[in-house]
Amino acid sequence: MCGIVAYTGLNNALPILLEGLQRLEYRGYDSAGIFMSNTSENKIYKVKGKVIDLRRLSEKKEAGKNYPIGMGHTRWATHGKPNEINAHPHLSNNQELVLIHNGIIENYETLKKDLIQRGYNFHSDTDSEVLVNLFEEIQKTNQIPLEQAVQIGLNKVIGAYGIVVFDIKNPNELIAARLGSPPLAIGIGKNEFFVGSDATPFIEYTKDVVYLNDFEIAQLSVGKEIQIAKFKENKPIATVINQLAFDIEHIQKDGFEHFMLKEIFEQPKAIENTLRGRINLDNQEVQLDSVQKHNSIFKKENE
Ligand code: GLU
Repeated sequence: MCGIVAYTGLNNALPILLEGLQRLEYRGYDSAGIFMSNTSENKIYKVKGKVIDLRRLSEKKEAGKNYPIGMGHTRWATHGKPNEINAHPHLSNNQELVLIHNGIIENYETLKKDLIQRGYNFHSDTDSEVLVNLFEEIQKTNQIPLEQAVQIGLNKVIGAYGIVVFDIKNPNELIAARLGSPPLAIGIGKNEFFVGSDATPFIEYTKDVVYLNDFEIAQLSVGKEIQIAKFKENKPIATVINQLAFDIEHIQKDGFEHFMLKEIFEQPKAIENTLRGRINLDNQEVQLDSVQKHNSIFKKENE
């Protein structure tokens, strides 16, 4: 079902991101990527494959370096094939904004057309790359901080999403927002913040967790308190901090007594997630690439 991990603080993000993505593997994915930043460089690694491949690719090259901020993503492709180009994170055209996204943007075609008319180029087939460029465009035209641009942008978007966004110009801050499935959990440490699709990526670092509700946006700046707002009303809200009292398996079981029971109850969601991005609501067609491929091979064999 895909996963999100992000970190900002005083420690090195890379091991936290890789370990966190590995803990989210149980959710299923087809490709993975990470982004890290420090005062002298920004790095992106992407693989079509497993988190272990991402680890092999990045760990040796980054040995001895320290990146106090970063984000990691496992992708369950809905728009565009599972490959390195479509894997997240995605960069905006001016290379200043970085985004990871789980979910689907239903009106991405309209938004994309508009951005193309304004001179934007797209490198991937994803709906997610539209989001990051939409934020860039709003930020540039209004000369506003990222958090405000994301709020305005999300009010133009129809879909379901968990996102994390980073602005290279403001290197201590992450913005996270959520609407619908998938969920986002934010871990609050001492001078550090974690983001995860669930709390498993940061369970050993902090027990203080905030679960983002629909239409909520969080601003995570090291040295400051977490700020949460409702982006529909542009209204700050009080933060509700929960205490994580459980172990990793407990979080993964999500309140169910055992995994089989959880999987049984997850079946409707699993079907919905599998079909996400594969149903065209305009012409009411279902696009299942591998079934279509299989059918055409079958036809050829029988000709
Ligand atoms: N719709 C996005 C894509 O196809 C995100 C998929 C996901 O949830 O991982 O890249």
